[in-house]
Amino acid sequence: MLYINCPHCGLRSQNEFAYGGDATVKRPELNKEISDQEWDNFVYLRKSPRGKHLELWHHISGCRQWIKVERDTSTHEIFKTYTANEAIE
Ligand SMILES: [Zn+2]
Repeated sequence: MLYINCPHCGLRSQNEFAYGGDATVKRPELNKEISDQEWDNFVYLRKSPRGKHLELWHHISGCRQWIKVERDTSTHEIFKTYTANEAIE
């Protein structure tokens, strides 16, 4: 069982959250012409990294806010959590 430190609510059980995928994927710029392949890559193509990874999680049974979680995918260690729009260095 993971415990995730929601930046809005504090430490909570993983059961209160829904996984939202890779937080590093950038949506193509609005009104910019892109190929079908680029759009397809944005929608469907995801990496499955081993190690440190930045993820989106939705605190669905809590504050209902999206947050970013820096987690090791092999050990499940959580290094840090961020609000959804927080700048990450
Ligand atoms: Zn929360």
